[in-house]
Amino acid sequence: MSTDLESISSSSIVIVGAGPAGLAAASTLTAAGRPCVLIDMSVRPGGQFWRHPGTDLVLASKTKENQGHHHWSAFTQMRSQLEDAARSGLLDYRPGQQVWAIEQDADKHFLLYLTESVRSQGAPRPAPVAVSTLILATGAYDRQLPFPGWTLPGVMAAGGVQALLKSSRVPAGLRPVVAGTGPFLMPVAAGLARAGAEHIQVCDANSLTGWARDPWGAVQAPSKGLEGVEYAGSFLRHRVRMRMRTAVVAAMGDGRVEAVRLARLTRDGSVIQGSEWEIPADLVATGWGFTPSLELPLALGTATRVDTDGSLIVDADPDGRTSVPGLLAAGEIVGVAGAVQALTQGELAALAALSDSGASVSASRRRKLHSRSRRGARFARAMNKAAPVPQNWSSWLTDETIVCRCEEVTHGVLKQMPTDLDAQEPRTLRVAGRAGMGMCQGRVCGFAVSCLGHREGGDRVAELTSLGRRPVAAPVPLAEIAQTPSQLQISGTGAQ
Ligand SMILES: Cc1cc2nc3c(=O)[nH]c(=O)nc-3n(C[C@H](O)[C@H](O)[C@H](O)COP(=O)(O)OP(=O)(O)OC[C@H]3O[C@@H](n4cnc5c(N)ncnc54)[C@H](O)[C@@H]3O)c2cc1C
Repeated sequence: MSTDLESISSSSIVIVGAGPAGLAAASTLTAAGRPCVLIDMSVRPGGQFWRHPGTDLVLASKTKENQGHHHWSAFTQMRSQLEDAARSGLLDYRPGQQVWAIEQDADKHFLLYLTESVRSQGAPRPAPVAVSTLILATGAYDRQLPFPGWTLPGVMAAGGVQALLKSSRVPAGLRPVVAGTGPFLMPVAAGLARAGAEHIQVCDANSLTGWARDPWGAVQAPSKGLEGVEYAGSFLRHRVRMRMRTAVVAAMGDGRVEAVRLARLTRDGSVIQGSEWEIPADLVATGWGFTPSLELPLALGTATRVDTDGSLIVDADPDGRTSVPGLLAAGEIVGVAGAVQALTQGELAALAALSDSGASVSASRRRKLHSRSRRGARFARAMNKAAPVPQNWSSWLTDETIVCRCEEVTHGVLKQMPTDLDAQEPRTLRVAGRAGMGMCQGRVCGFAVSCLGHREGGDRVAELTSLGRRPVAAPVPLAEIAQTPSQLQISGTGAQ
C-alpha cells in the first residue's frame, strides 16, 4: 500500500453517507464500541431526508430546526449519540468531504480518494483512506424526464426545490406547479404552501387507484398513510389543487417559466386529444422518483439488478452484504424505499459488519429488523406499481426538445441515430451522440436516454450500467487528480 494513504485502525469501519442509512449504521457501530469513520459531502448530518439549516438561519428565520420534518427525534437522538462518540474518539466524523474515486488494492483494501466538497482556501487536501470493511450509504438523486421547455429557468427537480426549502427556508417560486408522479410530490407542495406560495397545482401522471394493484403492500407502512392524511389537510388549508392522470407537457416563457401546458393522460401516459390547457406558473418542480447514486459500487464492480421502479440498484443480501467481500450497502442504493427503510438497512448493515468481524449480534434483533425491512420493501413495491413512469412519456417530446442539457442533444438527433449511425442501444447514444457526456455525466438525462435507446430484448442492467458508470464520482480539481497516488486506475470511464 502506498505511504500516501491514510491507513486507519484495522478494526475501524468506514461509512460513506450521513443520511438516515449511514447515521443508523454509525450509531449501531459506535453503540457496540466499534470505531468508525463517517464521511459525508454535506456540512451537516441528515442526508436528504433530514436536510436542515444551520443555527444562524434557524434563528434569523424564526423557524424551528425541525420545520417540515418527520421522525425528527430519531435524528436528534442519533446526532447526540454520535456527538458523544466523536468526543470519546470512537467516531471520526468528516463532514464536507466527498469520495471522488474508489478502488481496491491487491490486498483487497478499499482505497477512498477524497476531496473537499466545500473548498476552504489553503486547507490541506484530505489524504486517501484505506480500509477493509466499508459501508456505502450514498443515497439517490432526482429522476428527471425531459419535456418541451424544461431547460427554462424556473423548471427544477422537485428534490432540489425541497432541498432549498429545508436548508434555506426559500421557496423556489410563489406560483408553482409540482408535477411528475409518486408520494414525494406531496411534501414538496406542502412545503411550498407553508413558505407562502399560492395557487399551487400538483399534477400526478398516475391515478390513486394504482395503489389497488397491491393493496397488501400499500398497508405495510402505516406511518406513510398518516403522512398522506397530514398532507391532504395541508392541501385543504392552502387550497392546493391536486390533479391525477395529468402532466406538464410543456413549459413556456420569455427567458424563464411564465406558463405551463397541462394535459390529461391515458393510463400509458399518452395525451388525451383535446385535453390540453395552459396556466400561469413561475416554478415547475418535477419529480419522477429517484435514481440511486451507484458511482462507488459500480466502480468496485459490485453486482447490480433492476428494481421494480426501473432503477439500477446494488444487489445485496437482506443484511446489506454485496457481491464484493467486505463491502456493504444500505439505504436508497439497495432500493428507493424511503427514510424509515434506510434506517433499518443501515442498522442491518452495521450488524452484519460486526458479525463478520466476529462480534456477537443478537439474533432476535436481526429477525425484527429483517421483518421490518421486508415490510418496507413490500410497501416500496406497491408504491412503484402505483406510481410508475408512464410508458409513453416520450410522446410529449418534439424533435427540438433537448434531452441532454449539458451537451444540448435533442430528441430529433437521438431519434435519427439508429438510422444514421446504427445506434441500437443506449450506450451508443451516449458515446456517439454525446447524450450524458457533459458536466453532469448523465445524472440528469441518464434515465431518459436509457429509455429512448432501449430496444425490445435489450439487457437493462448493462444499459443502465453503461449510463451510470462514473469512475470520477464528483467534480475534482485537476491538481488533485495529479497529486493522487499512482495506483488509481480510472478505466472504462465515460468522462471525456
Ligand atoms: C434532493 C432530494 C430530496 C429529498 N427529500 C425528501 C423529503 O423531503 N422527504 C422524503 O421522504 N424523502 C426525501 N428524499 C428521498 C430520500 O433521499 C430518502 O428517503 C432518504 O433520505 C434516503 O436515505 P439514505 O441514507 O439512503 O440517503 P441520503 O439521505 O440521500 O444520504 C446519502 C448521503 O450520502 C452523501 N454522499 C453521497 N455520495 C457521496 C460521496 N461520493 N462522498 C461523500 N458523501 C456522499 C450525501 O451527501 C448524503 O448526505 C429526497 C431525495 C432527494 C434526492
